[in-house]
Amino acid sequence: MGQQGATTNNAATETTTSFPWSKSNLPKQLFINNEYVEAKNHKKLEVRNPKDESLLADDVAIAGEEDVDAAVDAAEAAFPAWKKTSATQRRNLLLKLADLIDEHSVTIAELTRLSLGAPFASFGGVEIKGAAEAYRYFAGWCDKFAGESFPQEDGFLKIVRNEPLGVTAGIVPWNGPVATAAMKSAPALATGNCFILKSSEKTPFSALALGTLIKEAGFPPGVFQVLSGDGSTGALLASHMKVRKISFTGSTATGRKIQEMAAKSNLKRITLELGGKSPAVVFDDANLQNAVFWCINALCANSGQVCCAATRVYVQEGIYDKFVEGYKKGMQERAKTVGDPDAAETQMGPLVDKLQFDRVSGFLERGRSQGTLLLGGSRVGDQGYFIEPTVFTDVPEDAEICKKEIFGPVAILNKFKTEEEIIAKANDTDYGLMAGVFTQDINKALRVSSELDSGMVGINCISLAFLTVPFGGTKQSGTGRENAIHVLRMFTEPKTVLVNMTY
Ligand code: NAD
Repeated sequence: MGQQGATTNNAATETTTSFPWSKSNLPKQLFINNEYVEAKNHKKLEVRNPKDESLLADDVAIAGEEDVDAAVDAAEAAFPAWKKTSATQRRNLLLKLADLIDEHSVTIAELTRLSLGAPFASFGGVEIKGAAEAYRYFAGWCDKFAGESFPQEDGFLKIVRNEPLGVTAGIVPWNGPVATAAMKSAPALATGNCFILKSSEKTPFSALALGTLIKEAGFPPGVFQVLSGDGSTGALLASHMKVRKISFTGSTATGRKIQEMAAKSNLKRITLELGGKSPAVVFDDANLQNAVFWCINALCANSGQVCCAATRVYVQEGIYDKFVEGYKKGMQERAKTVGDPDAAETQMGPLVDKLQFDRVSGFLERGRSQGTLLLGGSRVGDQGYFIEPTVFTDVPEDAEICKKEIFGPVAILNKFKTEEEIIAKANDTDYGLMAGVFTQDINKALRVSSELDSGMVGINCISLAFLTVPFGGTKQSGTGRENAIHVLRMFTEPKTVLVNMTY
């Protein structure tokens, strides 16, 4: 394939010709029952390139009620045979899909980049690699999530089976469209569920392109389907009486609606991976260079459009001035790498679309009267949705920029005195996704990490995730967990079987 030119930031060369998609041939139809089909719904999505606001497509399908029903019916029809498919076969299909994603990673990343704007080297390539690894990791679980049994000393042998739920669905955001899809579909499929992916209206192309690879990998029709659409499509899935589970990643506001729709329909199971306002706490005895490195990386990756980005940085008074100097210098260096996401040297691309750009610009404008602007604060250039990395200092704890998720490259940087004070401040938020503690005192690190009310805590690191350990948040950052054995429990129902051994 290799449709990208020499100036683009490709990392690999593709070899086969069975993958028809490219920037000049975008997938825009729904992938139902292993075929690309026209939506019955006539409404369409318009998608633009955030680097120059140019129109990419105005005819991407929005799955309506009939389309969602068709996908659910196909999944329901496929489920009885799929749940009986051997673990070995399921494993092989997932492994094959992982290989196909790797093989076409450059094109898939480009299909995302066109409408997300994330450069290949700093985000796009890593995202696709992460997706392939998720399919491999959960392939490994297919024959290892074995259930339990308890002895019959009381006359009853007790067996607990992990049974799939049936038709499950994933609703994903735009900021990592393929990796979030993989984190949901891989465990769903590994445990014998059928899965319907609802892509984000802002980044539909890479998700839709997966259909070709799903079919080529050999998944039976109806087992893994992809619907493009907006919130209306997501709502149809969340309130569908035959969908047994929604795994959702997105904003807290939408998560709340999903929970309500699930409750009002069939009490379907839900997992919610929502927003964050993650604190990084840097103590006087921290390794300065390391703390600065993580705090910058954690804000600038994907132009700040990362749920667990370190957006509240708290630094102890003894190291504060030195930290500010290093953080500012590092951010200024990053600011030089804002630019065309298709160029190899670019680290930070634009924000995803006008809506997000206007939202972040509003925070920047209002933030000027809430704290002191240390650096950034403005648009870059006059075309596209580029924003400078921005830091505000001395921000009151109740200020909007300290409380609300901005979802752009914007941090607040405040000073603190004591451990007790900073634990209270770090926890004074509606969110609880991730936190970071930077210190060389292991006792302090463990003490503070146990006091922080969040699903994940990094010690001398922040804003990272691994497939092998649970990912998710407390409070309004969500409910349930992704990754590791924990997500397998989210996609299965334990069935207790009692065997009377006494006659
Ligand atoms: P969003 O809530 O606007 O949309 C997410 C998805 O939900 C999209 O596919 C959208 O079409 C769908 N949707 C919108 N309204 C719906 C409705 N009424 N019913 C059903 N589905 C609906 O979020 P976004 O703007 O795409 O993503 C940004 C948010 O996602 C941020 O808050 C970010 O923190 C969060 N996020 C969280 C994680 C995590 O793992 N915790 C990861 C990435 C992003």
